[in-house]
Amino acid sequence: VDKNSQRLTIAIQKSGRLSKESIALLQACGFKFSLHEARLLAHSSNQPVDLLRVRDDDIPGLVMDGVVDLGLVGENVLEEVRLERKATQLACDVQRLRALDFGQCRLSIAVPKEEAYNGIQDLDGKRIATTYPYLLQNYLQDRGVSANNAILTGSVEVAPRAGLADAVCDLVSTGATLEANGLVEKEVIFRSQAQLIQRPEPLSAAKQAIVDQLLPRIDGVQMARE
Ligand code: ATP
Ligand code: ZN
Repeated sequence: VDKNSQRLTIAIQKSGRLSKESIALLQACGFKFSLHEARLLAHSSNQPVDLLRVRDDDIPGLVMDGVVDLGLVGENVLEEVRLERKATQLACDVQRLRALDFGQCRLSIAVPKEEAYNGIQDLDGKRIATTYPYLLQNYLQDRGVSANNAILTGSVEVAPRAGLADAVCDLVSTGATLEANGLVEKEVIFRSQAQLIQRPEPLSAAKQAIVDQLLPRIDGVQMARE
């Protein structure tokens, strides 16, 4: 991505739970894109706007580093990356422009259904499997609980049965995945939805003008479907 380009660059998730609605929102705001499955970059044909399609985990860092101008990402990933980058002294500021009306989920702690659970203190000294170690540690620390993390990049929900952990801290929407794995949700540690974020440094006048036009359109689109 050319940092000096006058084209506004927006990072969105390439393929996953946020992809369809991210593209649909930008299209509803009047941007025309032709997407080719294999391509990382998609140019708008009617505005000086480019889409960069990446893994959702990469979006906050790209925005914080100013590699892209805007990003659409879940608050869960945004906050996890912010905490991680803060701990490792990387740039971690962003501007939050809008909360978006999709990507709703929660990050919760769940335990095997046969385990007694009387509160978060029960997890003291236990091992919790998660892909969100920073959000989890933050929550536990605030409550004086010291658990051990088992950091996985996927398949968190099978960790207890596999003997890797005593509990899990995972994203939940309906709870069906937890139930299928014999787990019961006990603590909601973070509630999330998608967010539109902008890099911390001011945009060029040309790019700012596009954002100034985009924001009221987003508000209009979201208001219309409330
Ligand atoms: P990637 O390959 O981009 O890393 P991923 O597997 O990490 O993808 P997805 O499962 O596609 O991510 O979820 C992306 C984001 O969608 C989550 O981080 C969260 O913000 C949101 N999300 C999670 N579960 C749901 C759900 N059931 N419904 C809507 N949004 C969800
Ligand atoms: Zn991801």
